[in-house]
Amino acid sequence: MNGIETLVRDNIRSLCPYSTARDEYEGSIGVFLDANESPYANGFNRYPDPRQKRLKERVSQIKAVPVESVFLGNGSDEGIDLMYRIFCEPGVDNAVMISPSYGMYSVAAAINGVEVRSVPLGPDFSLPVDSLLAACDRNTKLMFLCSPNNPSGNAFTQSELLALVRSFGGIVVLDEAYVDFSDKGSLLRHLRACPNLVILQTLSKAWGMAGLRLGIAFAHPYVISLMNMVKYPYNICQLTQDTVLRLLDSSVDENTREIIEQREELEFRLKDFSSVKMVFPSDANFLLVRVDDADRMYSHLLRDGIIVRNRNKLPGCENCLRLTVGLAGENARLIESLEEYESLYVRCE
Ligand SMILES: *Cc1c(COP(=O)(O)O)cnc(C)c1O
Repeated sequence: MNGIETLVRDNIRSLCPYSTARDEYEGSIGVFLDANESPYANGFNRYPDPRQKRLKERVSQIKAVPVESVFLGNGSDEGIDLMYRIFCEPGVDNAVMISPSYGMYSVAAAINGVEVRSVPLGPDFSLPVDSLLAACDRNTKLMFLCSPNNPSGNAFTQSELLALVRSFGGIVVLDEAYVDFSDKGSLLRHLRACPNLVILQTLSKAWGMAGLRLGIAFAHPYVISLMNMVKYPYNICQLTQDTVLRLLDSSVDENTREIIEQREELEFRLKDFSSVKMVFPSDANFLLVRVDDADRMYSHLLRDGIIVRNRNKLPGCENCLRLTVGLAGENARLIESLEEYESLYVRCE
């Protein structure tokens, strides 16, 4: 435990957090004259539960993780930002991360005045375990890993990830936003044995709730207590807490299976195009493809009303587009549009 405490910024370790009116009284019936709310009921006149007790208990039950190890945030982005604010002294500390990966790790670092050390993924987007460790020094507080990785789509093996968690003296933030689409599984069951591991998951992808903004962080109870101290008191609104609780009752397993099936079908179809040079193996709900001319194909698809992500400018992703797997009909439209692209550009070259 002491190991982690020494990683925390001094001002955070000694922080006296804001105590909300509702932290002290847990009941739901009574005469509430404590929070200067409006007394006129409209469904939303009361502040939401700042600790999200019911929602956390449900998440804890679904994921089989003790409730003390669960943090809920306004998307995963809140969890990412909190990591910097808790552990990194601006202008002094640094964070090591893989490249290419999710852009928010470096944006949040820049906002917080924290140096980023990017380590390129190896051949076929493999995890550069030794180079990641070599990039660390005594001011490296965080290491961001993403598995399955966005935008490459591949998941790293649990043993490689665990090797990094065990060898690195700082906090490993493992982003598992796409874990539900992968058969490599989650590192959640190793959480208890790894006090320096923070696992981020989200309801935005497989769970289908991107519009509600709910990200989950799983970590040692001490790290969770720091996150609770630093977060905005009422970070999850009432509407989100209630709606998520309701939606968590319906299974998304069927949808997830369908997406994986569609991913395989799409991969198979894409490989037939001569303008598609490479379809990278994916453990996520998207495919990274290398094409003849990413900017040209992107513009063609856009003119056709099909919006994909152009990753051409990212290191290691030259001429790559990232295609989210949609419904069968949507994927079919993509294929149709690519056929037109080939008839326009490829055959006459
Ligand atoms: C989509 C995505 C998220 C989700 O972020 P939210 O803020 O929870 O919507 C997190 N990490 C990665 C790598 C993603 O691609």
